[in-house]
Amino acid sequence: MQYDDNLTANLPSFVTHLECAMTGERHEADQVHNLSRAGKPLLVRYDLEGVRKALSRETLAKRPPDLWRYRELLPVRRTENIVSLGETMTPIVPMPRLSAKLGGGEILVKDEGRLPTGSFKARGLVMAVSMAKALGIKHMAMPTNGNAGAALAAYASRAGIKTTIFCPEDTPEVNVSEIALQGATVYRVNGLIDDCGKIVGEGKAKVGWFDTSTLKEPYRIEGKKTMGLELVEQLGWQVPDAIFYPTGGGTGLIGMWKAFAELEAIGFIGKERPRMVAVQATGCAPMVKAFEAGEEHAPRWENAHTIASGIRVPQAIGDFMILRAVRESGGFATAVPDTAISAALDEMAREEGFLLCPEGAATYAAYKQSLVDGRVKRSDRVMLFNCASGLKYPLPPARRALDRHKPIDFTGL
Ligand SMILES: *Cc1c(COP(=O)(O)O)cnc(C)c1O
Repeated sequence: MQYDDNLTANLPSFVTHLECAMTGERHEADQVHNLSRAGKPLLVRYDLEGVRKALSRETLAKRPPDLWRYRELLPVRRTENIVSLGETMTPIVPMPRLSAKLGGGEILVKDEGRLPTGSFKARGLVMAVSMAKALGIKHMAMPTNGNAGAALAAYASRAGIKTTIFCPEDTPEVNVSEIALQGATVYRVNGLIDDCGKIVGEGKAKVGWFDTSTLKEPYRIEGKKTMGLELVEQLGWQVPDAIFYPTGGGTGLIGMWKAFAELEAIGFIGKERPRMVAVQATGCAPMVKAFEAGEEHAPRWENAHTIASGIRVPQAIGDFMILRAVRESGGFATAVPDTAISAALDEMAREEGFLLCPEGAATYAAYKQSLVDGRVKRSDRVMLFNCASGLKYPLPPARRALDRHKPIDFTGL
């Protein structure tokens, strides 16, 4: 498919500057950045008045169904720097059988497992790597629980950028293999993701790696923002009542919250917002603890453990941004145990034929729990995020075998 002329040409870019998420201090665009001078995440700011004039819903509707359709709200200025693997719009899949069983509310699953490398990390990393290419970065490093590393490896190799990646030693085998196969140098480290992050920080200081960690790099969030733009467009410019988001570093939740504000500024939606629900596992729930304590920051969670490896993040640099979005939206943060995650995964697979990843299953478990404790209404339209293909994770064995040389009792099969 071809973009309209407006997109094949290099757009007059609408990026004006970057802004510290804590202090609001301005930083110049078109330079290599990690954190702000105050040591906090940087947010990309746009001339939204300009975008408002340049882009209409009708123009948008004619564009190819991928992430680049939102080009005016993205940081990549020159088309030649886009390092694409085909970032398709992901379907919203309704779950009518489970809705009926639970008594009413509409359950929608945004299936991010369809993206390149099988997870929504592709959205963030396609943006980070395209910007790295634009800015002439030669060597990127990253701590990862698996999916982010796989996406970085894929896009960076495609752009001819070297990558060095560190993951906790119990990272799912498939992730470590795909990272290596897609051209990165990958190490298993005897620690958690934040321990891996420290190694990247040291490498940055000693040998000049670019630190691609969640929110220590300003563009992954712009890529993840497209989830918010996309789901609202897919719902006919309406927001769902609530979004259940499996929260690790929180890029997606913060990104979607930013997307809604930008959509309002360009006149595509009004003041309505979904309630943002940050879902964590009881074995690693720093945001839930801080949310309940009314705190603005979340201290490190010790002995973090959960089968949902993508949300095993003991400490998040964007903690205050996650908590702000959740509170401003009238949402909440909630944790579910691994037993509930497994049961939820099993239930949706058996009853709807939909294989969630464990993190996605956590959102379904949290939704059911929230129905019971009354934090969501039975009439609510909720959107759950399935962030990766369920096929990327170890699956339970199925051991029935049949000996075709013996008589078969068909009534018993
Ligand atoms: C990274 C990841 C998450 C957490 O996403 P954040 O936006 O970093 O909070 C959840 N699920 C899966 C499968 C992931 O890979």
